[in-house]
Amino acid sequence: MDNAITIEGYSKSYGAIKAVDGITLAVERGTLYGLIGPDGAGKTTTMRTLVTLLRPDAGTLTMAGHDVTKEVSVVRGITGYMPQRFSLYPDLSVDQNLSFFADLFGVPKHEVPARKERLYRFSRLDAFSNRLAGRLSGGMKQKLALSCTLIHDPEILILDEPTTGVDPVSRTEFWEILRELKAQGVTILVSTPYMDEALQCDQVSVMHAGRILASGTPASLIAAFPLAVFALYDRDLVLRAPEMLAVPGVHSVQAFGDSIHVTAAPDVVASALAGALAAALGREVTLTRIAPALEDVFIELVETPRHDS
Ligand code: ATP
Repeated sequence: MDNAITIEGYSKSYGAIKAVDGITLAVERGTLYGLIGPDGAGKTTTMRTLVTLLRPDAGTLTMAGHDVTKEVSVVRGITGYMPQRFSLYPDLSVDQNLSFFADLFGVPKHEVPARKERLYRFSRLDAFSNRLAGRLSGGMKQKLALSCTLIHDPEILILDEPTTGVDPVSRTEFWEILRELKAQGVTILVSTPYMDEALQCDQVSVMHAGRILASGTPASLIAAFPLAVFALYDRDLVLRAPEMLAVPGVHSVQAFGDSIHVTAAPDVVASALAGALAAALGREVTLTRIAPALEDVFIELVETPRHDS
C-alpha cells in the first residue's frame, strides 16, 4: 500500500496534559481522510506534529515516506498546512496575499502567474483579485487561505477545521475544491466538526481524548453500528430522558435536530419499545425505526464511557 501519511505509536503531552495517547493511523496516497472528534480530542496537536511544528514525545510520523522529525525541510516543502486561524494579510489584496505566500514558499518568480491562474480557476476568486483580504466574506477568506496553502503545489494537504463557522453554500463550494484537488492526486487530511463533511471523506478516524476510537469508510462505520435507532418526533420528551433510559433495552436518548434518537438493543422492535416507553412515561409515544446516521455512530463512540483506560 502506498501511504502518504503514517503515524505509529504517536504520543504528545503538554506538561501533565496527555493530548495524544499512542495513536496509529495510515492515510493512503490520493485519499480524502477525515479526522473527527470533539474539541480537545487531539486533532490539532496531531496535525501540528505532522507539519513539523511540534515534536512527538514518542512514535514515528512520516509524510510521503519522510520522517517528520528528521527531514523537516523536505516535509515542509511537500506539505500545505491550513491552521484553524490562518493568517491572511487583511491590508493586502487577494492577489498580493497570493504573491506574499509564493515568496514565502520560494516559488520561482516565473512560475507564479501560472500558479495564481490555476488557483483562481479553483477558487473562482479572480473577480475579487484586487479586493482587500480583510473585506472578503468568511467563505471567500477560507478559499483564499486554501489558495495560499496551495501556492507551492504541495502533495499533502493538512486542513484544520477549514470550514468552521462558514456558511453552508461556501462550505459546499470549499468541499468541491477539495474533491477537485483529490482528483489531481493530492492527499488531504482534514478535521471537521460537521458530519455531512465527514460523510464525503473516503476514510475517517474518530478521535477522542487523545485516542482513535474507530477508523474506516463512513459507510463501514455506520454498517458496524451495533444498535437499533428509533426516531421520536417529540422534542419535549428529551426532558424525560432519565425515565426512558430506565426502560429495559434502551441504551441512549439523544436530541437530534427536531427529533430524539433512542438507541436500543438490535432485536428491539418499534411497537414493543413504543409500548414500554408509553408505560414508563404515562403517555402515548410514536416512534419509527430509522437507519443509523454517522452522527449516531460518533455520539455512541464519544459519549459511551470506556473502561480500557
Ligand atoms: P480543538 O478543535 O478544540 O483544537 P483538538 O481536537 O484539535 O481540539 P488539541 O487542540 O490538539 O485538540 O488539544 C488536545 C488537548 O491538549 C486539549 O486538552 C488541550 O487543552 C491541550 N492543549 C492543546 N494545546 C496546548 C498547549 N499549547 N498547552 C497546553 N495544553 C494544550
